[in-house]
Parts: sequence; structure tokens; C-alpha cells
Amino acid sequence: MQVITTANLTCPECSHVQRAEMPENACVHFFECDNCHALLKPLEGHCCVFCSYADTLCPIEQVEQEI
Ligand SMILES: [Zn+2]
Repeated sequence: MQVITTANLTCPECSHVQRAEMPENACVHFFECDNCHALLKPLEGHCCVFCSYADTLCPIEQVEQEI
């Protein structure tokens, strides 16, 4: 399967959309917004900021959904 490793992350504070690289084997718990410098954290029950705020699930979740 093809794992997507870039995502468009939308800041919940200012709605700024930024393109971000996702590591394939680690969860990203903190991400700083380029625009307003808010520190994004995963929502409750989510493994990483990408699953919470991006248009693409993180690589780890993509693999899990494939199985
Ligand atoms: Zn922001």
C-alpha cells in the first residue's frame, strides 16, 4: 500500500493550513502553528496531531486501517 506522508494541517486557533511531513513510525504529539504559533496537541482519543487536525490520518493509522 502507498502510505501518505504529507498532510495539510489546519490550525484550530487561526484556521491556517500548513503542509507538514509525517514521520512514518512515530506519533507527533506537538505541532507549532506557522502562523499563530499555537502549540497543537492531539484531541482526546487521537494518537497524534495529524489524526486530530490534518486531512490525512497519520501513517500508523493508515496502516492499521488497511489491515
Ligand atoms: Zn494557528
